[in-house]
Amino acid sequence: MSKISVVIPMYYEEEVVNECYNRLEKVLINLENYEYEIIFVNDGSKDKTLELLTKIAKENKNVKVISFSRNFGHQAAVTAGLKFVTGDCILIIDADLQDPPELIPEMLKLWEEGNEVIYGERKSREGESKFKLFTAKMFYKTLNSLSDVEIPKNTGDFRLVDRKVVDTINSMPEHNKFLRGLFSWVGYKQYAFEYERKERFAGKTKYPLKKMVKLAADGIIGFSTKPLKILGGLGIISIIISFILLVYALLSFAFEWNNLEAGWTSIMVAITFFAGVQLISIWILSEYVGRIYDESKQRPEYIIDKTINID
Ligand code: UDP
Ligand code: MG
Repeated sequence: MSKISVVIPMYYEEEVVNECYNRLEKVLINLENYEYEIIFVNDGSKDKTLELLTKIAKENKNVKVISFSRNFGHQAAVTAGLKFVTGDCILIIDADLQDPPELIPEMLKLWEEGNEVIYGERKSREGESKFKLFTAKMFYKTLNSLSDVEIPKNTGDFRLVDRKVVDTINSMPEHNKFLRGLFSWVGYKQYAFEYERKERFAGKTKYPLKKMVKLAADGIIGFSTKPLKILGGLGIISIIISFILLVYALLSFAFEWNNLEAGWTSIMVAITFFAGVQLISIWILSEYVGRIYDESKQRPEYIIDKTINID
């Protein structure tokens, strides 16, 4: 008998909790030869999410709950869930039922065949705004052109992974995790599992632009140092341009091509241009330095307020 663990992060999902549990449980109890556990991670929701989860956990001992002291973000919530899993394979799934739990048996079959990371690849995405689709596409293009590891596009965190992959991920102390990148980075036997992504069951997305930008930055900076190298390129280009400007300024002075006003223009162009280059450079540097600072503090990635059905 094998055991499957399901990890579900939840942030203000009171409208979704019961439907999510019911649909999942129906699939899980009907699995032959599998025990199961569900680990819900309440990521600091202040609505009825925790109350509803507590009720479910009281009725079903296979349901475990981890509740954060505040909102630490989706990736931290999944990370916490992974620390507590006891199964032989682990499914990560969103609470909003965009990723259908009914696909679990099919994914388990792939795991039994020896695949170790079965990641959901979205063939289509229903009910998501043009803006979200466009930004997601741009993000994966940029990420893959910069990153040293291939990170599959149209892929979220919906995936079934083998215990040993989770053990590997759990052994990584880094913060600001970009899990889908890490799951790709660790290697092992990967399988792209195509599926159709549904519309959110209820409620609104919990990923506003700000959180998407943070996730994108974690993805790019966590998996590439190329932005640092671009700095060098920018520096060389700016030196070439300033040299051309210098030659032009000298020649125009010697041959009296220009009056004073034209000189003023070229100075302004140069100053603003190089100020811009420097600001961009400092900004990129600060992103890395900020993360070094984060890691060096060794603060915990999340704080658990309480747990239910977990010793
Ligand atoms: N989520 C979370 N913490 C957050 C934001 C989101 O735990 O700070 C959870 C959320 O409850 C959901 C999953 O992460 O289960 C994905 O979020 P959502 O469905 O809102 O993102 P989208 O599908 O719109 O990208
Ligand atoms: Mg969603």
